[in-house]
Amino acid sequence: MNTRPKNGTMSSLIFDNRFTRELPADPETANRRRQVTGACYSRVYPTRVAAPRLVAYSEETASLLDLSVEACESGEFTQVFSGNDLLAGMDPYATCYGGHQFGNWAGQLGDGRAINLGEIINQRSERWALQLKGAGPTPYARTADGLAVLRSSVREFLCSEAMFHLGVPTTRALSLIATGEPVERDMFYDGHPKEEPGAVVCRIAPSFTRFGSFEIFTSRGDIKVLKQLLDYTIRTDFPHLGDPSPAVYLRWFEEVCRKTADMIVEWMRVGFVHGVMNTDNMSILGLTLDYGPYGWLDNYDPDWTPNTTDAAGRRYRFGQQPQIAHWNLAQLANAIYPLIEDAKPLQQALDLYVECYHREWKSMMARKLGLSAFEPHTDEALIAELLSILPSIETDMTIFYRRLSSMDTSIESLASISDDALISPLMEAYYVSAQVTREYKAAIGHWLRGYIARARKDNTSLETRRLQMNAVNPQYVLRNYLAQESIDKAEAGDFSLIHDLLDLLRRPYTEQQGKEKFAEKRPDWARHRAGCSMLSCSS
Ligand code: AMP
Ligand code: MG
Repeated sequence: MNTRPKNGTMSSLIFDNRFTRELPADPETANRRRQVTGACYSRVYPTRVAAPRLVAYSEETASLLDLSVEACESGEFTQVFSGNDLLAGMDPYATCYGGHQFGNWAGQLGDGRAINLGEIINQRSERWALQLKGAGPTPYARTADGLAVLRSSVREFLCSEAMFHLGVPTTRALSLIATGEPVERDMFYDGHPKEEPGAVVCRIAPSFTRFGSFEIFTSRGDIKVLKQLLDYTIRTDFPHLGDPSPAVYLRWFEEVCRKTADMIVEWMRVGFVHGVMNTDNMSILGLTLDYGPYGWLDNYDPDWTPNTTDAAGRRYRFGQQPQIAHWNLAQLANAIYPLIEDAKPLQQALDLYVECYHREWKSMMARKLGLSAFEPHTDEALIAELLSILPSIETDMTIFYRRLSSMDTSIESLASISDDALISPLMEAYYVSAQVTREYKAAIGHWLRGYIARARKDNTSLETRRLQMNAVNPQYVLRNYLAQESIDKAEAGDFSLIHDLLDLLRRPYTEQQGKEKFAEKRPDWARHRAGCSMLSCSS
């Protein structure tokens, strides 16, 4: 008799928990908040919840685990991914890490409310770590409750999947489950806590290791575990680099620099602002990690930060993300320095990040503009001019680039056409018509004339250019107000908008019939509403 579990079912998940098998464990198993030394993780069980209810799941993420739709819709799925049940082979744990928060060393942080269930190997031999977020306190919970509210869980769930479909490297979200239990949160940190519905997200990634996972050991002078963790990481997630050695550590760091550069370029392409780029939120795989007070640019404003905690210094503003990633990489370089003991090649790798970022950013901008390649002598100035004009009045970034693709670059009479006629395809992108002054029109008109002249040199047909631009300039992004609307409805028991957005954002580059309203600019009511224009870290 064949006793192998049926493909696609929950019991077909095959666990291979290499992290807990190969790395040192905290000997203490009590779930008590503490400093954990000499260990990469502590074993801890999720806390049971009263009435778990599946709000949504991602079919695409489920397929990475070879889970069928039936499995996802089973009662067992909801029990397991709310943390109420464990499957055979799961070995739950929380990891120890530290981090620099807002530029300052914060000491031990760790998975305060994330509980890893273990790693599975799928049918394509890929390793995926499964992690519950909001499943109760761990030894790393410090003074907090280990829980997550529906509001922040909806945001993490939808954005992870939206980013994936946009082509941005990210951790993935499998499920969103309401716990049926209230969670108290003081959303504005103003002494007015209120009860909100609780939720648990299951997210997956090849690894959840962060820059801060290395920093914690170096900060404590624990070079032994530092080396164990880096050797493990190279063997598990970077096997193509070869057996760990100081030379391989360097190559590893260079690769982290490159992957981080790629990720940030993608954020800049789609207008994503992470909001809390602390080193504990930086993935060594260059994946967007920890969706907290993130936001999407509506009007293009490089100085915008969605995070209210960041409002004063604007450290994590859109335009500064490339520099912050560099600063964070420097912290990672410091963390692995004891294993290399030579600062020069680490500095060179950091320089490589800068080089890599600039090269890729230029090529990305050329693609956004539908140019076949970045031509330094013309395009440097062309792009700089555009980026100085865009923030000068409120201009919707997503709509602007999308509309630009329909600009007729074959116009015969470029010299005689009026600025008004030239910019008419772009009018939809402007928030305040009174800002579209004669002076503004002259500025954007000047740029458009230069742009059209430049685009013509490529000899790309209008249609090809349009298709190429529409493949990198999304029609739909998870606008802040859309996420908030789906949360408002969900808190009232209606999950339909979560499903609609999940579905819409599967094809962000394709105009979808009947979905025009999701491509519109932020409505005026959302301009200053919490959750739509500013987010707190409270989650
Ligand atoms: P974040 O800024 O959300 O990435 O979180 C920073 C640190 O705080 C991490 O160590 C989290 O695990 C921890 N943390 C955040 N919220 C909670 C919570 N509700 N309970 C326990 N730990 C938390
Ligand atoms: Mg975090």
